[in-house]
This record gives sequence, C-alpha cells and structure tokens, in this order.
Amino acid sequence: MQKNEILKQYFGYATFREGQEELIDSTLAGRDTIGIMPTGAGKSLCFQIPALLLTGLTLVISPLISLMKDQVQALGANGVPAAYINSSLNNNQIIKVIENAKDGKYKMIYVAPERLDMAEFIGFCQKADIALLTVDEAHCISQWGQNFRPSYLKIREFIDKLPKKPTISAFTATATDEVKEDIIRILKLTDPFVVSTGFDRENLYFEVKKPANKDEALLYYLKKNPGKSGIVYCATRKAVEEVCTHLTRAHYETTRYHAGLSEDERNKNQDDFLYDRKAIMVATNAFGMGIDKSNVSFVIHYNMPKSIESYYQEAGRAGRDGAPADCILLYGGQDVITNQFLIDNSNDNSDLDPMNLELVRIKDRERLKQMTYYCHSYDCLREYILNYFGDNTANYCDNCYNCNTNFEELDITEYAQKILSCIKRMDERYGIKVIIDTLRGSKGERILRMGLDSIKTYGIMSEVSEKRIREVINYLVLNDYLMLTNSEFPTVKLTLKSRDVLFNDEKLMMKVAGDQPIIKMKKERGLKKHYAKSEGAVNDGLFNQLKELRLRLAQDKKVPAFVIFSDSALLDMCDRMPSTGAEFLEVSGVGKMKLEQYGKAFLEVIGSFSHRRIK
Ligand code: ADP
Ligand code: MG
Repeated sequence: MQKNEILKQYFGYATFREGQEELIDSTLAGRDTIGIMPTGAGKSLCFQIPALLLTGLTLVISPLISLMKDQVQALGANGVPAAYINSSLNNNQIIKVIENAKDGKYKMIYVAPERLDMAEFIGFCQKADIALLTVDEAHCISQWGQNFRPSYLKIREFIDKLPKKPTISAFTATATDEVKEDIIRILKLTDPFVVSTGFDRENLYFEVKKPANKDEALLYYLKKNPGKSGIVYCATRKAVEEVCTHLTRAHYETTRYHAGLSEDERNKNQDDFLYDRKAIMVATNAFGMGIDKSNVSFVIHYNMPKSIESYYQEAGRAGRDGAPADCILLYGGQDVITNQFLIDNSNDNSDLDPMNLELVRIKDRERLKQMTYYCHSYDCLREYILNYFGDNTANYCDNCYNCNTNFEELDITEYAQKILSCIKRMDERYGIKVIIDTLRGSKGERILRMGLDSIKTYGIMSEVSEKRIREVINYLVLNDYLMLTNSEFPTVKLTLKSRDVLFNDEKLMMKVAGDQPIIKMKKERGLKKHYAKSEGAVNDGLFNQLKELRLRLAQDKKVPAFVIFSDSALLDMCDRMPSTGAEFLEVSGVGKMKLEQYGKAFLEVIGSFSHRRIK
C-alpha cells in the first residue's frame, strides 16, 4: 500500500497537510528526521503512517500516560494494532504486552521514557526488529525547553543497547534553535532531515483583556458562548479552586485539575472533561500536555503565564481540529508579580548548580518580560507571537482583537499627574485598588476608615471610569513611571521617571480602544472558511444530533468522544449529508474501520434528518 492509501483507509483523510509528506518520505527512506510543527498540525501521522508501512516494529517515546492511552485508543479505532507500556500498567500487564509484541500483534508500541531501562523490555527489543524509534514531544529532552524531563536523556543509552540502530524521528511544537540543537546532540542524530513549518494557527483568535474584575469577565464570556467546551488556566492551585467554585455556583458544568489533588481525582476530572461530561476545565499548567481533545473551543488564561512559549502551548490546545477557537488572556498587574515570585523561588531545576540555576532564572525573567509586552501590545497579537518564534508575518491578521479594533491616541498627561500626585500624598503605601477608589472619591468603608477622604487628591478623578484609571496606571507601571513592590499585596511606588511627569511637564500619550471598532463583532474568519456550507445544517440541529450519537457511542465503548469522530468530521457530515456508505467514506476523518463500525448509525441519523427536512 502507498502512503496516500494508508492516509485514506486508516485515517480517513484525502490529502496530507503541510510538512507531513516530506517527513513521512524521509522516515521511510531510513533517514533520521525532525518535525517541528505547531500543536494540531498533525505530527502523529508522520510516524504512524511510516509505522504501518515499514516492516518491523515502531517504538514511540511519549511523556504522558494520558496521551499514550488516547493515541492507542484512537489507533485501535482506526484499525491500527498498538499498545502502550507505562506506569499505569502493573508488571503482569506489561509482561502480557511484551508477549503479544513477541507474537507480532502490534505495529506500534508507545512507551514512557522511564520504562526504557526495564530489563524485560530491553531484552525484548534486542531480539525484535525495531524499524523506527520516534520521540514525541521531543523538547522534553532540552533543559532550555519547557517541560524538561530528565528521563528523556536516557533514550540514547537505550538506542545504543539495540543490535542495530533504528531510524529515529523526533517531533515537537517548541522550536527555538537551542532546543533543536539539543534534540540533535542528545539523540545523536546523523545528518537529520528537518522540516519546520510555520507556527501560525489561523483558526485561533487572540485577545488580551484587562478587566477590573476577572470573574465577571469570565462569566460574561461564558454567557456569550453557551454550550462550548474549554479550558480556564490559572496560575495557582488556590485560584483554580476559587474559579472552579465560582463557575460551579453559576451553574456551569465545571471540573478542576492541579497537582494538589490526588492522582485518582485528577484522572477522574480529566476524563470528565475529555469525555464531554464536564464542559469546562479549570486548571493549572499541570493540565494539558498530551491532551489532544480536539473540540476545545476556548482557552482562557485567568492569569498571565510565565512566557510566550507556555502561552502559545497552552492556548494552542484550543481548536486542534481546525475549527475556530478563542484564546483570551485576562491580564492583571498582579500576574507579573506572581510570576516573578515563582521564578525567584522555583526549585524545578534543583539538580542544577547555582551558576546554571541563575542562568536559567535570567532567561526566565527575560521570557516573562516578553510575555508582559504581549499583554500591552497594540499591534497584531498573532504577529507578536509568530515573530517571537522567528516566523516572519504580515502585521495584520484580521483575527485578533488588536487587528479588529480602532485605537486612538489619548493624551493622558493630566490623568498621570493626578495619579502620581495622589500616590505621593498617600505616602506610596497602598495598592492599585485603594488608589483608584481614592481618586474616584469612593465612600467605601475602607477608604473612610483610613482617612483617605481627607487628602487633597480625594475625588479628583470622580468623572473618570475605574477601567480607564486602571489602564493609565498599567501604562505608567509598564513604562517605569511607577513600580509595584514584589510582595503578596503589592503597593505602588513612584520612580525616578515620575518626576518628569510631575515637575517637568513631560507629555504622555497612550493608545486606547476607540468607541468605533472597525468591525463591531469579531470576524468569524475561520468559521467562514471551514464551515460555510454546514452552517444551515448546524443551525437546524443536525450537528447536535450527531454529537449526541457520538457521545452515546463513546460512553458504550468507554472512550473519549473524539476517538469516535472529531468535531470537524461531524461538521463535514453536515456539509456532505452522505446517504450511502461510499459517500460516508468521503467524509474527512472516515476511514475503512470507522465506516464499518459507525457508518450505519450515523447514516441513519443523517437520513432521518434530511427526510424530516424535506417533509
Ligand atoms: P499534533 O501532534 O501535531 O499536535 P495531531 O497529530 O494530534 O497534532 O493531529 C491533530 C488533528 O489533526 C487530529 O485530529 C488529526 O486526526 C488531524 N489530522 C492530522 N493530519 C491530517 C490530515 N492530513 N488531514 C486532516 N486532518 C488531519
Ligand atoms: Mg502530538
């Protein structure tokens, strides 16, 4: 069979995506291969298709248990015999897998890097014919990357124990040159063929909001987007607990994930989300690596993450199936402080010597700065991210808040003078909220108790909205006219530069969103492109009926819904309205096995739907 036939028969797709074909060809030719492609680009097929075509076995090193289980289930559903070996199996189960493998029952085995030094496994591999060894999430090998995993360093040792070196392929979405070089050096790849596609994910919409109240902003978004599934990322466990409680009280089907929960509870909550029993996952960054739930419609960051790398990786968990999805970051000045604290006190790298530890911290601080600039940029947000990763792009994407907003220049000199002099009169002892309340002449109990109503600047900005004052203060902090102390409840202090505004009449201009947005509503660019035809059917409810059927089948089989079909496969069914098996096979994501297993059930639903419509 040829690779194109495999693509259709097993995976149900008609054409390759960018980069896939070259990566597959190079692997099949026996050359070491590196694929650097963004999340959702389709890296898995680049080793799964060679695995099916090569004589011999393919080993896939993968960092996360949940990822292995999902991929093996998904492969099974497509008729590809595969298994996994990791700490979720007991010794007897592992021996059983190895025995099956000896009998030639699998084309692929996924294995956790920690298991590579198991004597039984090594013994088996030394006798088996290992054609290909794939390292997925290969950035885990590099200390410079996110999510460094020491056990990845052992992979090469394992390879050296094999009688014959297999072809090696490695895949990642994070690709700074440092990480790439580390992958090549540590895996000792010989003259590897490297494909690095652009990092753009067209279907993702980017926005940064700076709300006075993040909880309200979150609820507002959820109300506007009913029924959608998504992730809310928080910086701390405490924030996860609070936000989850808050959303549950507001009657959203919400679950949570962080390192403070027991493993059982984490697994259960993760499954609730994967299996669509709970629509919203509130989590720390502990959640998500290796989650390839395809129908995540939004990723909201309740706090700013520590770097653009983290942000793009986490935000990139939205819209993996190519459907339009939102990536929204709720920024607050406190986020910078929290991250600084985490960088200064992290012992993630406790095995590093002090000098290297300090080097890592310096890099982390620089990354945090770049992340903070993103939140204050008025230019195309997509351009900002892509440039960060070294991609050159147009400076207008038409699918981010900044591109869709008309900014005006506002002279904020007078506001700034009022704010700075108020802070001076308050002896630089208070946080942002108290300063704003004082400027606006609040009659709040706290302000009165502290006697702030008697200072001269009390109420001098009573006509200005809280939001605007907050924006100006953010601007002043970002441009070093003010600073925040590095403490749990940061207070605002003047800086040397403050004098220029207070005494030397320095003029300050700030960009603000104008009253007349260029485009009132966010443009559904991706939506138009992908689903224009299916819109009618979607509105008529066929899509929901198909989703219900999928959920029922998934529950029967005890697999996540996306193992049956992705959202984009269901939408393609709405587009095509197939009525025969041959037509059903045309649907993107329907291969031979899926046709046999699910064709009848889905065709029935589609049939009775079009029948009703004709009547
Ligand atoms: P990555 O590992 O790069 O993040 P995956 O391999 O998990 O991405 O693929 C993401 C999604 O894209 C999956 O649902 C997969 O089935 C789908 N996909 C992969 N290749 C193709 C293709 N050629 N045509 C259509 N969909 C594809
Ligand atoms: Mg992947």
